[in-house]
Amino acid sequence: MSALATPSAPNSPADAIPSADDLVARVKSYHPKADEDLLRRAYDFTRDAHEGQTRHSGAPYYGHTVEVALLLADLRLDVATICTGLLHDTVEDTDATLNDIEREFGADVAQLVDGVTKLGQMNLRSKRTKQAENLQKLVVAITRDVRVLLVKLCDRLHNMRTLHFVPKQDKRERIARETLEIYAPLARRIGVNRVCVELEDLAFFNLNPPAYQSITKRLSDLRHLRSNEVAEVSASLSQELVDSGLEARVFGREKRPYSIWRKLEKKGVGFEDIADIYAFRVLVEDPTDCYRVLGVIHQRWRCVPERFRDYISVPKPNNYRSLHTTIIGPSNLRVELQIRTEEMERIAEDGVAAHWRYKSGSYAFDAKSAADAGGDPVERLRPLMEILNQGGDPDEFLEHAKLEMFANEVYAFTPKGDLIALPGGATPLDFAYALHTELGHTAIGAKINGRDRPLRTRLSNGDVVQIIKGGERHPPAGWEDLVITGRARAAIRKLIRSSETEEFERIGKVIAEHAFLREGKVFRENMLEDALKRLDVEDADALYQALGRGQIGSGELFEAVFPGMKEMRGKRPQDRERIEDEQGRLYVHGRGLTPGIGLHFASCCSPMPGDRIVGVLDPGKGVQVHVIDCEVLATHEDEESLENWIDLKWTPETDNAVSVGRIHATVRNEPGVLAEMAGIVGEAGGNISDVKTLERTTDFFTMYFDVEVFDAKHLLNIIAALKTSDRVVAAERARASGEDED
Ligand code: MN
Repeated sequence: MSALATPSAPNSPADAIPSADDLVARVKSYHPKADEDLLRRAYDFTRDAHEGQTRHSGAPYYGHTVEVALLLADLRLDVATICTGLLHDTVEDTDATLNDIEREFGADVAQLVDGVTKLGQMNLRSKRTKQAENLQKLVVAITRDVRVLLVKLCDRLHNMRTLHFVPKQDKRERIARETLEIYAPLARRIGVNRVCVELEDLAFFNLNPPAYQSITKRLSDLRHLRSNEVAEVSASLSQELVDSGLEARVFGREKRPYSIWRKLEKKGVGFEDIADIYAFRVLVEDPTDCYRVLGVIHQRWRCVPERFRDYISVPKPNNYRSLHTTIIGPSNLRVELQIRTEEMERIAEDGVAAHWRYKSGSYAFDAKSAADAGGDPVERLRPLMEILNQGGDPDEFLEHAKLEMFANEVYAFTPKGDLIALPGGATPLDFAYALHTELGHTAIGAKINGRDRPLRTRLSNGDVVQIIKGGERHPPAGWEDLVITGRARAAIRKLIRSSETEEFERIGKVIAEHAFLREGKVFRENMLEDALKRLDVEDADALYQALGRGQIGSGELFEAVFPGMKEMRGKRPQDRERIEDEQGRLYVHGRGLTPGIGLHFASCCSPMPGDRIVGVLDPGKGVQVHVIDCEVLATHEDEESLENWIDLKWTPETDNAVSVGRIHATVRNEPGVLAEMAGIVGEAGGNISDVKTLERTTDFFTMYFDVEVFDAKHLLNIIAALKTSDRVVAAERARASGEDED
């Protein structure tokens, strides 16, 4: 392949345009029976049609079309395609018509020229919606005849080689971007790798000159440093294969700047080893020799297992076939190897173009050869066309080779030599965040090229940046203004938000303390255990934050800790009428209750309004009323007894009544504990009518006390209030048990 034209050293406008003889000779070198007359007529036609037109370089325009034809000849394509290369701009840019072309050169050439002309008229980088539509047309055009795309790709390649003559930078960038996003991926898809990589490198150079230069400079330094190693590795590999009786061609190939760049971007590591810049190719005749070569090499040198790939048994979608392996080779150097046949090499470089050959007398695309090599790569474009036809996202297509190119980028190095790419204007703080969020959070200064510099310093290309860390993670005010990368900005905002959170928590705690003081209580965090569940918040911090942000009110919190307490203030159960169970007054009502039969509240569970209740008829004793979950009821569950169960409900009159509930509690054995409990119960609107100590140790009391309450809920609220006390270890509503029954 022709070497990458060094974009900074352009051909001078005076460069001679290759003659028709040159072109004919080039075509005949691979296609001896080529129609020389047709080629010469097409050559004359383009020269005459473009008469008087010049390129940006000042050279005659037709020189471009001749160069495109030569590029197509490099791909060894048929005469009609070469003629199309010569004629591709005549319909668009000269007086010539498609009819003229058809009359002079036949329908085949005319159709190809028409296809290329239409492709050229598409504005591929217009607005997004338009782009999808255009891409559909493009792909449809390609799938009709792949030669149209080959001509277009060579056209684009020559335009890219001469892009530096285009005076306007934004136009150069637009063309380069379109090349990188559309043409290079298309070239790769049909396997025309050598066109693809040159397009990428030229686009890369035009879109990102400093990155391109920094990589080519490093490459050239390494080339000098490593030249002996390359020779040594080549010699050792060749010798080893000769010794094993294998015939092979071994050579080192330097990697392309754009592919190195992509690797640097993707993996974020430096490049310095020979394996980072060279891949060695071993070419053999027979596919089975590929595996023999692999065997010899793996036996002689240690391979890096995760780097081994067999693209012969599983080719890439564009038919690329090869064995890839990396070994720890001669002199302990890491060496990357590509092992393939000469034919695989041709397909790897020229893709679909590798399948043009003589068949039954004519020189043309050989579909069978393409199929033998793994299928017609153009076929593989069809699913893509379907995606686009179904209104799919063109991004999926573009994403393939897209590179986040900043209009203006700066490249800095870590002290270890890793390359960090940042947008122009980036600061050491951006650099720190690009490396690691925590490094950004704790940065307090930077050394740039060994000298202390403030964090606001703008970085320059080639700076070596060392971040100085402090211990604290707190962003000083205005840090957000010091950075320009989204990553750094997002990290700083997040950090600010989390310190905001801490602030709200602090405020929330103060609010809680004040709210409790207003109610004559001292707020303590261990009061919250049950309240957190009632408020449905995760933990105390979340509660404080919600209080601080005003999502939960202080009254709400108080109510959750002391349910019903505020409401009960000033209300006294003793002002109400007490439920007298032994009188059997109709505070409960049920069906089928014989008048005159006494109702008794069972002492095991002391039912009160608000409880779900049942009655059990005990002839001679009347009806015993139990809470539905009372354990004593279990003894009445046999079939015979169930007949005696009576559904009961509270009458509305109970709203004005008072019941007695029993609380079972374990409290610390400390002076004043009983007074405190009486205080809490009284405050919550209860009235203690009886207290009995059941057990007393040095540390604890176990006791029960009967409390006059309005209903079951009131009793539970009093228990909740008791549980907020440090001295109450446990408190619950008493249920059936032998010893506390009196
Ligand atoms: Mn052109």
